[in-house]
Amino acid sequence: MTQTADILIIGAGPYGLSCAWWTALREPKAKIVVVDEGDFACGGIGRNASSMRMQWGLELNIKLCKESIAFFEEAGKRLDYPRGIDLRQQGYLLLAHDESTFAQFKANHELHKKNDVPSKLLTPEECGKLVPVLNTEGLVGGSFCHKDGNASPFLWLDALLQAARRLNVEVRMNTRVDRLITQGDRFLVVTREQQDISAAKILLCTDWAAPQLLQTVGIDLPITGMPKQGLVTEAWPEIVAPVVISFKHDFAVSQVLRGNILAVVAQDRPDGDDTRSTPDYLSFASRQILDCLPGLAAIKVLRTWGGVISKTPDMQAILGETELENLYIAVSAYKGFMTSPAVGRIMSEALFDSGAHPEAAPFGTERFKTGNLIPEPLTV
Ligand SMILES: Cc1cc2nc3c(=O)[nH]c(=O)nc-3n(C[C@H](O)[C@H](O)[C@H](O)COP(=O)(O)OP(=O)(O)OC[C@H]3O[C@@H](n4cnc5c(N)ncnc54)[C@H](O)[C@@H]3O)c2cc1C
Repeated sequence: MTQTADILIIGAGPYGLSCAWWTALREPKAKIVVVDEGDFACGGIGRNASSMRMQWGLELNIKLCKESIAFFEEAGKRLDYPRGIDLRQQGYLLLAHDESTFAQFKANHELHKKNDVPSKLLTPEECGKLVPVLNTEGLVGGSFCHKDGNASPFLWLDALLQAARRLNVEVRMNTRVDRLITQGDRFLVVTREQQDISAAKILLCTDWAAPQLLQTVGIDLPITGMPKQGLVTEAWPEIVAPVVISFKHDFAVSQVLRGNILAVVAQDRPDGDDTRSTPDYLSFASRQILDCLPGLAAIKVLRTWGGVISKTPDMQAILGETELENLYIAVSAYKGFMTSPAVGRIMSEALFDSGAHPEAAPFGTERFKTGNLIPEPLTV
């Protein structure tokens, strides 16, 4: 049996479900189907560090995150999810241990002012007051924005899923797409479960796994997977109020509403799709964290985990129509939790507006041909 859809979204992570919800709001008569090869939150969203910030050095990212954080603030109401998503806006503290990083903070700060992002530059002493467990030795300064923070990726995804279903979006789990075939002006989508779907438009939200399906229609985009690992501690009374990023130590540490501390520490590993946690990660990550936040030493780690993030040449999202008409793509290049509200809106417009969508265009696939890459000055 072949089912039909006006829009088929492949991938039920935050990008896929946000796009589905926004599209159903905009086009209530469209038949929207979302499929996912796994179960709820089985992709990057279920392996996520839960943090969100507007403090970027590229206006494009500032705008995406500013809009998204404003949406997260109202998510309970907008998505009719009264329980809320455990949003914790205790700010985000970026740490600079060298002059050039701090100079970049200063430049970012000018951009933040222009975009009404309430960030401020801090001295090492002010950073220490904000986070008493911080080692301020060798610190040059910090950048802080009180509107940044974290929320539960699981609650966010559940809110989206329920809201999309209420708008008659059909979400089918455990349905793996193996191949896309063009058939006249439509696509035949071949699933492993032999429940094929004929769709007028496809939106690919499979993040780092996108190349597998793109290649079935002869499209080659520079997207790879990059393993990342995280750890979570036992719950503790508030000890690191803001999310802390150290560019020297390559980590983000974030205490969530329940009191657990989540940390993602970058470690050199080859690109690929390995979602396992490595045996050396715990000792490596603990050393990096305790060098910067020695006051966390007494807290027990519960477990580590592995995940994969999508990587593009400039580590920016890919949004928009591909070279094949009616085949669209939204790939996160990391930060897919914090940008998903805005990306959903943009893609819901891009799917129906003729011509290039002004907000999606800079993130379009053309940049890999023209070389107009849009790298973010500071990332971990
Ligand atoms: C350790 C770690 C920490 C992170 N920390 C943060 C953070 O603090 N803040 C932040 O914003 N981002 C963070 N990220 C990144 C974030 O999780 C991703 O950017 C986000 O999940 C991308 O959303 P998505 O919907 O595009 O993809 P996903 O959440 O990965 O969902 C994609 C879905 O597509 C499905 N799929 C794939 N192939 C197929 C197929 N062939 N057929 C059917 N379904 C398919 C998968 O099963 C999956 O459910 C982190 C990621 C990791 C790994």
